[in-house]
Amino acid sequence: MEEKKEIPRFDDLKKEAQKEWRKELKKAIPVKERMKIPRQKMPEREHDVRNKDFFEVNLGLSPDQAVEEARRCLDCPNPFCVIGCPVAIDIPSFIKLIEIGKFSEAARKIKETNSLPAICGRVCPQESQCEVQCIVFKSTGVSVAIGNLERFVADWEREKEEILIPQLANPTGKRVAIVGAGPAGLTVAGELSKKGHSVTVFEALHKSGGVLAYGIPEFRLPKRILDAEVDYLKKLGVEILNNFVVGRTATIDDLKKEGYEAFFIGSGAGLPTFMNAEGENLNGIYSANEYLTRINLMRAFEFPNYDTPLPKGKRVAVIGGGNTAMDSVRSAKRLGAEWAAIVYRRTRKEMPARVEEVKHAEEEGIEFLFLTLPVKFIEDERGWVKEMECLRMELGEPDASGRRRPIPIKGSEFRIEVDLVINAVGTSPNPLIPQTTKGIEVGKWGTIKVDFNTMATSIEGIYAGGDIVRGGATVILAMGDGRMAAYSIDLYLKNKNSR
Ligand SMILES: Cc1cc2nc3c(=O)[nH]c(=O)nc-3n(C[C@H](O)[C@H](O)[C@H](O)COP(=O)(O)OP(=O)(O)OC[C@H]3O[C@@H](n4cnc5c(N)ncnc54)[C@H](O)[C@@H]3O)c2cc1C
Ligand code: SF4
Repeated sequence: MEEKKEIPRFDDLKKEAQKEWRKELKKAIPVKERMKIPRQKMPEREHDVRNKDFFEVNLGLSPDQAVEEARRCLDCPNPFCVIGCPVAIDIPSFIKLIEIGKFSEAARKIKETNSLPAICGRVCPQESQCEVQCIVFKSTGVSVAIGNLERFVADWEREKEEILIPQLANPTGKRVAIVGAGPAGLTVAGELSKKGHSVTVFEALHKSGGVLAYGIPEFRLPKRILDAEVDYLKKLGVEILNNFVVGRTATIDDLKKEGYEAFFIGSGAGLPTFMNAEGENLNGIYSANEYLTRINLMRAFEFPNYDTPLPKGKRVAVIGGGNTAMDSVRSAKRLGAEWAAIVYRRTRKEMPARVEEVKHAEEEGIEFLFLTLPVKFIEDERGWVKEMECLRMELGEPDASGRRRPIPIKGSEFRIEVDLVINAVGTSPNPLIPQTTKGIEVGKWGTIKVDFNTMATSIEGIYAGGDIVRGGATVILAMGDGRMAAYSIDLYLKNKNSR
């Protein structure tokens, strides 16, 4: 079997950095001067205006700001930022192309390993991925704004209509089936299409994008941006069949009989988790999945132009501390809530949400009730929720997640008046594929088991990645899995041929 290449390949990156123009550019400004340049602030809409509509909050860097920000990058000989990026973007190369004003070239450099840059530039938790590894961050505490620069060039390329389709390999005649058009599935599809394989993505919903389509609201990721990046993949030759539920419309075995030779399962973790608290089924209590799907996919925020019912809620409590909770509470505020709050059982420090979303939520008037655990929901005479009983918590020793365990304080019960509650405490993998694919190994929480070096499942020719193997994770981790799986599937198909 051909030896697997390491991702990232530092040798290639070092070769790029040795080009004459890069060496000249590096010398042009001394490191000390570069370190003094302040991080460019992304312009954003006024909080008192934006918290009443669903238009995008961030406005993007200007070309001048992007060039100035790019000057802060030291073009390090060992760019650790690349190790921090699960799809191994050649970050120094794309940033140095920005510094010399070659914005479209910078976008193409990113697209060598990431087909969804305008999305990642908007939703990636950069602070815990590429930017935490940045040497400027390690020296000054303020990293180069890698994500903002990625967004800038992707938007530039799209708006200037300079999107180029890379050279595709000759057709191999091999057919690959992908389950789910989320970031994991779309990444595999794009990578394999570039390698000449014939790729079909089967997607249960009428819209492609997975959580990007049904979960993340317009004010963070406008659907036109998602649609443009999905369109790019189609131009790479990816076929997407919507309204096709694998396991119902056809099983993986059926698709095998139709001539598909390799499979990738990227079906995500779209099943809501419940707290099993008393009164959890009362009217006025939603799972975040249902609430956000109604808003994003069924456009409830454009009611009555779209006929999607959704109670507005005057006093809205959202339970949880992740991105899903933040998206739900900010949506509730925009739909007219007078009081909208996050109710979280730990403290701010342990919240898994992106730092920027928490900051934006605070600015928009969201209240945060930390160390608070809802234990019971109380109904009014019509069966709607009217109050939530909570316990105060304190933090104990760290648990398996490495975060300090919340412990209830005895006798600390108190009640909060609410008329809408959104449960965003987590999700679990959809069981349909494991149930309908005989012999596929599943872990304790319903996740599909894989070898993380290859993303191979227990069945030959079937690979998996993203939330279906990790539980709820992130867009870029799903894409990293997708890239690894595409690499393995390509090898598998080549070796299958020569056997
Ligand atoms: C509200 C919300 C906000 C988030 N915000 C962020 C953020 O800001 N940054 C970040 O990095 N991460 C964020 N995340 C997490 C991130 O979106 C996920 O980790 C990521 O989307 C996982 O990608 P995936 O491709 O594995 O799955 P998904 O995005 O879940 O895509 C799976 C797709 O498979 C389809 N599918 C499922 N079963 C079948 C079947 N049987 N047949 C056909 N199709 C099927 C689904 O319809 C779906 O389209 C957020 C998650 C949520 C819910
Ligand atoms: S994709 Fe995410 S992790 Fe990679 S460089 Fe962009 S922002 Fe950083």
